[in-house]
Amino acid sequence: MSSDYPKADAYVIGAGPNGLAAAITMAQSGIEVVVLERNDTPGGGARTAELIRPGYRHDVCSAIHPTAYSSPYFMSLGLEKYGLEWIQPDIPCVHPLDGGDGIALHRELIDTVIALGEDGRKYKRLLEPFSENWYALTHDILTPLGWPKNPFLMALFGLRGLQPVAQFVKQFATAKAKALVGGMAAHSILPFEEPGTTAFGLVLAASGHGVGWPFPKGGTDQLIAAMIKLLEAHNGKVITNAEITNIDALPDASIVIHDTAPRSFVQYAGHHLSPGSKRALEAFEYGAAAYKVDFILSEPVPWAYEEAKKAGTLHLGGTFEEMRQAEREVHEGVMPEKPFVLVAQQSLFDRTRTQGTDEVLWSYAHAPNGFTGDATERLIDQIERFAPGFRDTILNKHVIGPMKLQEYNPNYVGGDINSGKQHLPQLFKRPLSWSRPYQAPLDGHYFCSSSTPPGGGVHGMSGHLAAKAALKQKFGIRVS
Ligand SMILES: Cc1cc2nc3c(=O)[nH]c(=O)nc-3n(C[C@H](O)[C@H](O)[C@H](O)COP(=O)(O)OP(=O)(O)OC[C@H]3O[C@@H](n4cnc5c(N)ncnc54)[C@H](O)[C@@H]3O)c2cc1C
Repeated sequence: MSSDYPKADAYVIGAGPNGLAAAITMAQSGIEVVVLERNDTPGGGARTAELIRPGYRHDVCSAIHPTAYSSPYFMSLGLEKYGLEWIQPDIPCVHPLDGGDGIALHRELIDTVIALGEDGRKYKRLLEPFSENWYALTHDILTPLGWPKNPFLMALFGLRGLQPVAQFVKQFATAKAKALVGGMAAHSILPFEEPGTTAFGLVLAASGHGVGWPFPKGGTDQLIAAMIKLLEAHNGKVITNAEITNIDALPDASIVIHDTAPRSFVQYAGHHLSPGSKRALEAFEYGAAAYKVDFILSEPVPWAYEEAKKAGTLHLGGTFEEMRQAEREVHEGVMPEKPFVLVAQQSLFDRTRTQGTDEVLWSYAHAPNGFTGDATERLIDQIERFAPGFRDTILNKHVIGPMKLQEYNPNYVGGDINSGKQHLPQLFKRPLSWSRPYQAPLDGHYFCSSSTPPGGGVHGMSGHLAAKAALKQKFGIRVS
């Protein structure tokens, strides 16, 4: 078949962290790989850009990277040799409360235990097995469903994690413990009554105590820059401005790996699919969205709670009940008055992101899927609530609502940053099969985006595991 693209053994559609991980895995096995990316820069949800003014570097999507930092696959690559440097903020995460109060997720578990007072011992008992064994845990949670490498640890994790967080927090007496765990579980972007929401909370909290919540010096795109150097060192190629709108545009190849959402796959390859496969892929559900706002500030955020001034990330949602209400509304299609807002203040710890004494601030609010309204003031109100005077520090802002996010990257269907709802039915059976999740319903084609296990986040595991499956099936190559 004639095509504009160079001939290769394998193609990857999409240069997100998973697409690049798939490409590196294949290139390191001696396979000739070409990655085709629709955008003018690679990186997918791991790009950094001067969104507002030259010299001010904003992470367009992902910003905080406990999973990238401790991903078994990324760790095996030694990306630091290709220029990646990690920055650890003084405190991984703070959850401010009204009245200048709050609770911090410290690097040292014991510091949070002390800060939690009467709930401290309980928190320690619940978290310690996972934070102490964080690296062991990553080998079991950043993979598809299967026999665990650490069965006892995973049994304990399952027992605790499968509970809805609304149930799990009942064992705490204090508003601080409930808020801290609720804010962590809110990363599931699910209603707090959903089974499995506690697992997200445990993973986020355990990673913070286990390895911190670091970010790459210079911007999230530095992770991608390092991956591309490694890929090119193994003769892999990335072609940008190369959107695939019809799969027939690709030259014949043994392997095609799709770092795309099932919806896009159906759009460009649907004419080769059986009606049943097409229907099953179209039935894949997408979750709630992000409403993203980036700021340039004249000075650091004037947080009322002192610890917040030392945190890389902040969870702004107030009490557990307020967050529960907000997440419920989001899932009912309503933009909450007081949304759950995530904030990252990278420039406090990384002056390469900004100019002079100005600061850059990254934030997003949870919003209904497909939301087209204006939630900027509600997001700013939540920051102002915990940092009186914040409004006066704003020099510029840049807004990307859910539908803009989808336009920017069609993997974020309706603004869903995980490319697929992460409730239990779709956590492992993602997007079609729980036993062979990376196999697309076309011979030689594989899925690798965050619409496959282990789901959302920058970790490269889906890409690596999809490439492993493809190499074994098509070339008989076994990758460890
Ligand atoms: C606002 C926001 C905040 C986030 N915060 C964090 C965070 O702090 N930490 C974290 O770990 N994760 C975070 N995430 C999630 C994280 O960014 C994603 O889970 C991750 O990027 C998924 O990687 P991926 O490779 O599967 O897909 P993506 O990164 O989405 O990459 C897919 C790539 O495929 C390209 N593509 C799509 N269709 C086509 C086509 N037809 N032809 C060619 N190319 C195509 C896209 O342009 C894109 O480059 C955030 C996401 C968003 C949007």
